Amino acid sequence: MRRAYSIVVSAGLAPALILGACLVLAVSPTLVPAELSGLVRYGPFLLAVLGGAIGWWFNRGRAVFVMALLLICYWLLVGNGAGISAEGLAFLRIATLYLIPINLLLLGFTAERGVLNPRGIARMLVLGLQIFVMLMLAGQPDVGSALHRVLDTRFFVSTGVLGAMPHPAMILSVIAVVLLLIRHKPLETSFAAAIIAIDVATVMGTGVIQYGYLAATGVVLAGLAQEAWRMAFVDDLTGLPGRRALGHAMAELGNQYAIAMLDVDHFKKFNDTYGHDVGDIVLKKVARELARVGGGGKAFRFGGEEFTVVFAGRSAERAHEPLEALRKRISDNKITPPEKNKAVSVTISVGISERDDDTTDPWAVLKRADQKLYEAKQSGRNRIVV
Ligand code: GH3
Ligand code: MG
Ligand code: MG
Repeated sequence: MRRAYSIVVSAGLAPALILGACLVLAVSPTLVPAELSGLVRYGPFLLAVLGGAIGWWFNRGRAVFVMALLLICYWLLVGNGAGISAEGLAFLRIATLYLIPINLLLLGFTAERGVLNPRGIARMLVLGLQIFVMLMLAGQPDVGSALHRVLDTRFFVSTGVLGAMPHPAMILSVIAVVLLLIRHKPLETSFAAAIIAIDVATVMGTGVIQYGYLAATGVVLAGLAQEAWRMAFVDDLTGLPGRRALGHAMAELGNQYAIAMLDVDHFKKFNDTYGHDVGDIVLKKVARELARVGGGGKAFRFGGEEFTVVFAGRSAERAHEPLEALRKRISDNKITPPEKNKAVSVTISVGISERDDDTTDPWAVLKRADQKLYEAKQSGRNRIVV
C-alpha cells in the first residue's frame, strides 16, 4: 500500500507541478515579463523538438510520435503557417481535441517499437496521414464546416465549463485520462497529463492555448526523463531498484547501518523442475515481500536470485527482526505454479552484517554479509546468520 502510494506520488508529482505552474501562468500572464513572452509562445516548439530528439536518442518511438503530434497541432493552431481560413482554423481547433486523446490513448496501450524501423516508420506515416486528412478538410470549407458541426456537438444546452468543449471530445478525454493513469507508468501518466493540459487550456478560452501546449510538451518531456531514470535504476523483472541504485544508496550511508544479503534456496533446481518462467514468478513474489520488509530496510535486486537490504541507521540486531518475519512469511506461504496443481515452498537464506570500527566501507560490510549468507547455506538453509 505504502509502495503503491509512493509510486503515485513519484510518478504524478512532476506532471502535477508542471500543470500547476502553467495554469498559474495562464491565469496571470503578467507574471511573465514582456521580454520573455516569446518564450511562452515558442516554448512548445522548443520543448517538442527537444523531447522528440531525446525520445529518438532513447529509441522511444511513442514519445517521438507524441511530440510530433503536439508540435504539428500547435503549429496549425497558432502559427497558421498553412494560410488556413478562419473557418478552417476553427475546424482544426475542434479536430485536435479529438486527435490528441485518441492518439495518446492508443499509444499508451501499444508496445514500444522504437523509431527507425518498419513499425516505427509506419506509425509516423499514420500520423502524417491524419494531419494530411485534417488539412484537406480544413481547406474544403463545405466539407470542413459540415464535419465541424458534427464534431462540435453538445448533448444538451450547456454554458461555462461544460459548454466550452464538444461533449464527445470531453468524454473521450476523460476515458483516455482514466485508462492512461491506470497503467501506472511514467510515460502513460504524462500522456494523461498532456490531455488534461490541452483540455483545460481549451476550456479557459482563447489566448491561453500556448500555456496548454507548453504544459503538454513539458509533461511528456518529464515523463521521458522519468522513464529513462527507471530504465537506469529499476530492475525490470522485479520492480526493485537494481545494482546501480544500490551503489548510490551505499554512498549515502553514515556511521551506523546494517546490510543483509539474501539468496533463494535451491533456486536452480526450482528453475530446472518448473521452468524459467515459474522461476521468474518466484523472484517477483520474493521481491514483492522484500519491497515491504519494514524496519527501515530498503531492498535492491543484487542480481539473479540474490537481493540486498540496506538498513540505514540500524544495527544488525534491529535488522534481524523484520528479516526473520520475512523469512517466515516466505517459507509459510507456498506458491502454486501456474498449470501445476501442487504447491511448492520457497525458502530464503540471509546473512546480516553491520558497520563497525574495523569495517567502515559499505562494500566490505556487504561482503561480510555475503560470508554470513554462505554460513547460513552451509548450516542447512532457510535461516539467518548474523
Ligand atoms: P543455493 O541454495 O545454494 O543458493 O542454490 P541455488 O540453486 O539457488 O544457487 P545457484 O547460484 O547455483 O543458482 C542460481 C540460479 O538462479 C541459476 C540461474 O539459473 C537462476 N537465475 C538467475 N537469474 C534468474 C532470473 O532472472 N530468472 C530465473 N528464472 N532464474 C534466474
Ligand atoms: Mg545465488
Ligand atoms: Mg540460491
